[in-house]
Amino acid sequence: MLSVALPLPLPQAFDYRWPEALGAPPSPGCRVRVPFGRGQAVGVVVTVGTGEGGRALKPVTALIDAEPLFDDELWRSLRWAASYYHHPLGEVLSAALPAVLRTGAPVPDLDRPGLEITADGVAALAAGGLRPGPGRALLERLQSGPLPLERLREELGESARGAGNRLLRRGWLRACRVPLAHDPAPRVEAPVASPEQARVLAALAAADPRRAHLLEGVTGSGKTEIYLALAAQALARGRQVLVLVPEIGLTPLALRRYRERLPAPVLALHSGLSDRERAHAWALARGGLPCVVLGTRSAVFTPLPRAGLIVVDEEHDASYKQGDGFRYHARDLALVRGRALGVPVLLGSATPALETLALAASRRLGHLRLAARAGGARPPSVELVDLRAGHHPDGLSNRALAAIGEALERGEQALVFRNRRGWSPVLACATCGWKADCPGCDRPMTWHRGPGLLVCHHCGRRQRPPGACPSCGGGALDPRGIGTERLAAALAARWPDRQVLRIDRDSSAGAGRLDGLLQAVERGGPAILVGTQLLAKGHDWPMLTQVVVVDADGGLYSADFRAPERLAQLLTQVAGRAGRGARPGRVLVQTRLPEHPFWRTWLAGGYAAVAQAQLEERRRCALPPFRFQALLAAEATATAPLTAFFAAVRALPVADADGVERIGPLPAPMPRRAGHHRLQLVLEADRRAPLHALLAAWMARIPTLPAARKVRWSLDVDPQDAG
Ligand code: ADP
Ligand code: ZN
Ligand code: ZN
Repeated sequence: MLSVALPLPLPQAFDYRWPEALGAPPSPGCRVRVPFGRGQAVGVVVTVGTGEGGRALKPVTALIDAEPLFDDELWRSLRWAASYYHHPLGEVLSAALPAVLRTGAPVPDLDRPGLEITADGVAALAAGGLRPGPGRALLERLQSGPLPLERLREELGESARGAGNRLLRRGWLRACRVPLAHDPAPRVEAPVASPEQARVLAALAAADPRRAHLLEGVTGSGKTEIYLALAAQALARGRQVLVLVPEIGLTPLALRRYRERLPAPVLALHSGLSDRERAHAWALARGGLPCVVLGTRSAVFTPLPRAGLIVVDEEHDASYKQGDGFRYHARDLALVRGRALGVPVLLGSATPALETLALAASRRLGHLRLAARAGGARPPSVELVDLRAGHHPDGLSNRALAAIGEALERGEQALVFRNRRGWSPVLACATCGWKADCPGCDRPMTWHRGPGLLVCHHCGRRQRPPGACPSCGGGALDPRGIGTERLAAALAARWPDRQVLRIDRDSSAGAGRLDGLLQAVERGGPAILVGTQLLAKGHDWPMLTQVVVVDADGGLYSADFRAPERLAQLLTQVAGRAGRGARPGRVLVQTRLPEHPFWRTWLAGGYAAVAQAQLEERRRCALPPFRFQALLAAEATATAPLTAFFAAVRALPVADADGVERIGPLPAPMPRRAGHHRLQLVLEADRRAPLHALLAAWMARIPTLPAARKVRWSLDVDPQDAG
């Protein structure tokens, strides 16, 4: 008998009979094809038992893998994750696999068909006299070594195929298998470590190699240099390195930096790859290739049979938490895997998450610091601008406009930050005050003037605006408030002969285009950048000296207890873009609440002071990280099924739930989204054990409740969003 985990939202595994005709039964961790419902499904063997317990079981249809897909450590870590997040193992295993393997395709080979040049080919090329054309281009490209067919077609176009066949017949080329790896990039030497960097490296060398550390270093302090140095050491020992970066941190620029510095393949794992490329990278890592895997959230599931180091860059970044389905936190799983693998984990950030700071304070993490910027750059000066005085039609004070103008005069760059896309967050009637709200979300839709559309940033609904006010029939519709589109237009009108680059998700659809924009900035001509938090992270622009934060007051009004932490992180990261080169940086923050205590703390003590104050506040109010939370949420098009669902959940018998507080069900912070009503129940406890005992009991029962079938429900353990 085999019990098989299927990618279904059900807690249990499914039992099947192993037909003897298929040979010896497989090990746990192998994929099998099994009958399910009226069709077939691909699942992973969890346990192998004897006998059928008197039941008539359906037989397994086929065995897919002769060897388990997951090595011992990954298997244990994934099973741990399934139980910690109370998520069905089948879905966890499925999330951990590249998409092509979920559908039952074989693990890809570790090499691909390619071409190499023969001695005759080299001689023909050396003799000169070859006419320019696809044939010659192909021979020249292959001079430095064999390349996969795919890569040649990518670089040289479809004509490479015909030319390749001709040259194969001539004996100038030969078919071969090419290991999947990148072209060796030109090597760039590492800079000499600063005294601070040397101290951090020495401390890490002396530490228990299995201990995890927080590396808290101001923006531009040289954290990436520390990652590179440690990665080089691990690679020199023949080990693998996993580097996790935030979703928008994995730019071609960042990739190039790792490639040109490290003498090993750097495999990028991100959403821009094709499924086949992802599966290849996964298979190479699983094969034990000494390499760097540089990836976003889901790269935390990469097999690392020869692991040597795990780095989580910008560990505070919200993109490490999966927002739907299997809601894991990649930083937390990186720590779990590091422990299981017995390798060091380094969490790096200029603005560490309060959870991470609390772990460091309790000494469960080592705490290392880089206080100064590398290469002698000084921290930027920060100043508030009181927006209450004067009139600012385009959201920019005279003070800010003057500062931008001065930066441009000096031949430098300015960054104007506003975390709202579009022209204006609200379109309203000038006569009666009617607002264009999303009918599904009851929230204002954002006016995007370029495409002439109202867009709901919560559910994605897009529609043309009405010609006149639908409420009073007569009024003209006015844009209210400022988005990046409007800012960019205002700045371009004021400085028509300067480059104004808008960088947000609307302007940079397509990562290639974003990279082009960023490289233009890196080259350094005077320019104004306007953008959202896409601009806040990771970039290193030496000519950027002036930062203007247009309006961040929203973060001071928010009811979410994490809002001050997030605001301080965002502002500190944005401010950190200024003055990373030789010239000093300046930051102006516009606000209508200059007396708010947040500003005093941040201006006087920076992120560390805000974090300290917030930690004290969280402790006083018994909030995470001093208390553990889980969020049971449900949504439906009507409210009756929601109340029925939560009533059924609360009626479930629970043996031991002492010390678990149940708050709600209450409407979610967004009570309606995309036409669905949303209700949630918050569970809180001072210790994890009783909370998880309650969750385990509930999760065994909730999927079978009839009331659960009439709603969309989800469980979020350690939620990062208030819902
Ligand atoms: P972080 O990751 O902390 O933001 P980086 O590692 O990107 O910092 O370093 C910021 C800038 O300083 C980069 O341009 C980097 O090349 C440079 N840098 C870092 N360390 C050194 C060093 N020891 N000597 C000279 N330049 C350095
Ligand atoms: Zn009106
Ligand atoms: Zn909506």
